[in-house]
Amino acid sequence: MSFSISEKEDTIIALATPQGIGAIAVIRLSGKDAIRLTNEVFTGKNLEDQASHTIHFGTIRDGERVIDEVLVSLFIAPKSFTKENVVEISTHGSSYIINQVIKLLIRKGARPAKPGEFTQRAFLNGQFDLAQAEAVADLIHSDSETSHQAALHQMRGGFSGEIKELRNQLIHFASMIELELDFVEEDVEFASRDDLQQLVEKLLRVVEQLIGSFDLGNVIKNGVPTVIAGKPNAGKSTLLNALLNEEKAIVSDIAGTTRDFIEDEINIGGVIFRFIDTAGLRETTDTIEAMGVSRTQEKMKTASLILYIFDLSDTDMVEINRDINKLENLGVPFVKVANKIDKASNEFVEELNKKHPDTIFISAGQKEHLDDLRDKVLELVNLDKFRTGNTVVTNIRHYDSLVKTRESLLDVLEGIDNEITNDFLAMDIRRSLHFLGEITGEITTDDLLANIFSKFCIGK
Ligand code: GDP
Repeated sequence: MSFSISEKEDTIIALATPQGIGAIAVIRLSGKDAIRLTNEVFTGKNLEDQASHTIHFGTIRDGERVIDEVLVSLFIAPKSFTKENVVEISTHGSSYIINQVIKLLIRKGARPAKPGEFTQRAFLNGQFDLAQAEAVADLIHSDSETSHQAALHQMRGGFSGEIKELRNQLIHFASMIELELDFVEEDVEFASRDDLQQLVEKLLRVVEQLIGSFDLGNVIKNGVPTVIAGKPNAGKSTLLNALLNEEKAIVSDIAGTTRDFIEDEINIGGVIFRFIDTAGLRETTDTIEAMGVSRTQEKMKTASLILYIFDLSDTDMVEINRDINKLENLGVPFVKVANKIDKASNEFVEELNKKHPDTIFISAGQKEHLDDLRDKVLELVNLDKFRTGNTVVTNIRHYDSLVKTRESLLDVLEGIDNEITNDFLAMDIRRSLHFLGEITGEITTDDLLANIFSKFCIGK
């Protein structure tokens, strides 16, 4: 998907609110004819005479036929999201009305928007840089406190500002060094190599820090990869269902909230935990016994957290010690979850408590002490690192560009060390500038843009 010049000048239209029945729906238009086209089907005030940021009541009519009573909000260029004329029509939320209004305006000359086209226009018109545009998509898709915070921070500028500033300084050096090329005979030095080295080292520190934040960013965006391990019948799926159902209950108690629950994703204290490979769990895969199998072991190693669950009424100390030993060798943080406390003997619970005082005793079946388990889980993932206002990179595209930036910055440093000729040094700097620019969108290609914006939904 790429846009021709004329397509960029079209007035586009799409439903901005979700499909389906709702109290109201918002239809959005953007483009130079947005107000004129709306005015043609609107009965009320003359919209073309109204000020920006005003709302008007009236009816939308197809000829004599009234389609709906609506509110029309006007945003006159450049004071709008896309920096074009934008109209938002709030209709009653029936899919019939929505279709009628959109069809009518398309007949008048608007064109259906492509996925992400509103945001793409905002980007092309300089509303924000590319990293911020991508954060809009992340914000829309954020489903936990931490992913919401990360996206919001990024949308408000995040690391873009810092990168832009350092990139500008580097551009200055690049042009100075290229200027020197014009004066080779005179042997002058416009750009101090010491200053250049300092700047590159500073940039490298920022880039390294951002690269380092990606693991955390990935966890924030996709959830803490968690494995639930235990023998068949230990209670793995009962526990998973209990946690998921309690989460659903909490959320549906909050009036007016709806949320899609993703099987195997559980929100604990604002952090998403993603349970790996739990699809087969219901048919019980024997994770602990299969630990010898390297594939299972690999999976457990990639987890950030393991819930080791065993049946108190059906496991002896020898077996528990053996399992715990194996888990300790794996080096992944794990929680010892003793299940079916309702069926356990007091002596055994006491003995276990002595040997492994950090054991969490629960009854998954009766949903008892699940809060203890949640507390323990949050303690192990070190919540503090999620709560810092620090910038985290959550986007794989940014990560790739940062890694390439680091490589080329290291080349620049090596070049300064080896006193390579100016033309080669300038080339390495240009390469660093290119990769840095890819992040914020100062360097873009049509393919890159198409790829990014096609991932948005229509209407965004
Ligand atoms: P999985 O094979 O590890 O997924 O184990 P399941 O979750 O399927 O549980 C195996 C059996 O143990 C089921 O019959 C559950 O109802 C039962 N069960 C699970 N948790 C408890 C519990 O806390 N107490 C008791 N008494 N039974 C439980």
